[in-house]
Amino acid sequence: MKKYDTIIVGGGPSGMTAALWCARDGQRVLLMDRCDRIGKKILVTGNGKCNLTNFRQSPDCYRSETPEAAAAVLSAFGQEDAMELFRSLGILTRDRDGYVYPYNEQAASVRAAFESAVLNRDGLEVLTETSVTGIRRIKDGFQVSAEAYSAGKKGNAPGRQFFCRSLLIATGGLAGVKLGCDGSGYGLAKALGHHIIPPLPALTALKSSAPFLKKLSGVRNQAAITLQVDGRKVCRERGELQWTDYGISGVAIFQISRFAILALEEGKAVQLSLDFMPEYSVGEVESLLHSGLEACPYKSFEELLGGILPAKLVPVVLREASRQAKTQPLSGDASSARAIQIRHGGASDSDFQRLAAVIKGFSLRISGYMGYEKAQVTRGGVDMTEVTENLESCICPGLFFAGEVLDVDGTCGGYNLQWAFSSGSVAGEAAWNRNRRS
Ligand SMILES: Cc1cc2nc3c(=O)[nH]c(=O)nc-3n(C[C@H](O)[C@H](O)[C@H](O)COP(=O)(O)OP(=O)(O)OC[C@H]3O[C@@H](n4cnc5c(N)ncnc54)[C@H](O)[C@@H]3O)c2cc1C
Repeated sequence: MKKYDTIIVGGGPSGMTAALWCARDGQRVLLMDRCDRIGKKILVTGNGKCNLTNFRQSPDCYRSETPEAAAAVLSAFGQEDAMELFRSLGILTRDRDGYVYPYNEQAASVRAAFESAVLNRDGLEVLTETSVTGIRRIKDGFQVSAEAYSAGKKGNAPGRQFFCRSLLIATGGLAGVKLGCDGSGYGLAKALGHHIIPPLPALTALKSSAPFLKKLSGVRNQAAITLQVDGRKVCRERGELQWTDYGISGVAIFQISRFAILALEEGKAVQLSLDFMPEYSVGEVESLLHSGLEACPYKSFEELLGGILPAKLVPVVLREASRQAKTQPLSGDASSARAIQIRHGGASDSDFQRLAAVIKGFSLRISGYMGYEKAQVTRGGVDMTEVTENLESCICPGLFFAGEVLDVDGTCGGYNLQWAFSSGSVAGEAAWNRNRRS
């Protein structure tokens, strides 16, 4: 019977990093993954460019029910340590406004660099297309049950058993089902006595049933977004909105999705207030509109806004401004009596006020969210109060966790991979140390 010092379940960035720390000084390590290649999820990161980490690091970039525990891990192995790890693997990096990418901006080269380091490390074996289905605590360690696994299907081969002194679960969360992640790590952790903070998708698009969405699909524009839950302001982000036929997407929406999703799950009313001209105050927008019509008295509101907002957004904004006041419409076809009236100086102060108010606070009711198939990360996971600073289980000594399977999720910008590298390093080194001592 072959017994390993450490078995690592999951060959994503956290598992591979952990494996490189564990397989040192003659310790024997087995890295198991159900995909046909390790590190497959890296290929889709950063739209194929892989946003590795970020020079801007602050506690609010990482979210958890126990943020102080996440912070301790990140201070033990931080962004500079990650840069050193990349150098040691031959990954040259590029700094894009603080966002760190591989120099060639090809995620495939990051995956290849990790894979090649893992495959060339003495004492480190890799077993792909193998799914771990059960873990049992035994006298001097763990018994790991696994089955052959091919393209999401169980194989016909009989199950196999493996043994180890220390065990590290790095199975990711539920985001990226096609890339091997189905939350199986939560079941493995639970069976060993751990509590799981309920998982939910994070960094994903939001759905709305607003009737104008079909017309806006494909439009992109800059905005400041305020998330309101039951009428209360919860958070604010700024960035590019990407309108879709089902709702709204884009990095800024991803950032707030975590809070919107939790509120929706709790049955609360979720609304976005979109400010399409965040650089200006309401009063300034009003004056801009006034002076625009003064300078071009031959224009309708529709034509005036055509120079400010994306064309497809203009009728939606005008309709909303008209609807709110239940008075005369602010638009119409160019020959309508109203359009002619506006063109001849007939717009009232309240017309300008209503329009400015809608441009600065367009309301979009959120009815749902895109699930794990679209989400970049999972919130929730193994409760951080049940692990030590070294990510060893307080319930089951010798058991370690790393990566997204833990209750830590980063914001968009390289923070989830940073968490994978940080937690993988900390847990991997701790498992190696434990084996050395025992
Ligand atoms: C589309 C997309 C884009 C992203 N872009 C970025 C980005 O640019 N920057 C960033 O920081 N983050 C990004 N992320 C998030 C980031 O990829 C993840 O947070 C990170 O990969 C998590 O690493 P991990 O090692 O914990 O888990 P994963 O990378 O999910 O790896 C887990 C591995 O475990 C294996 N596994 C699962 N269960 C079992 C089992 N029972 N037996 C055997 N193997 C198992 C899986 O096959 C998988 O290979 C992105 C995510 C997605 C989906």
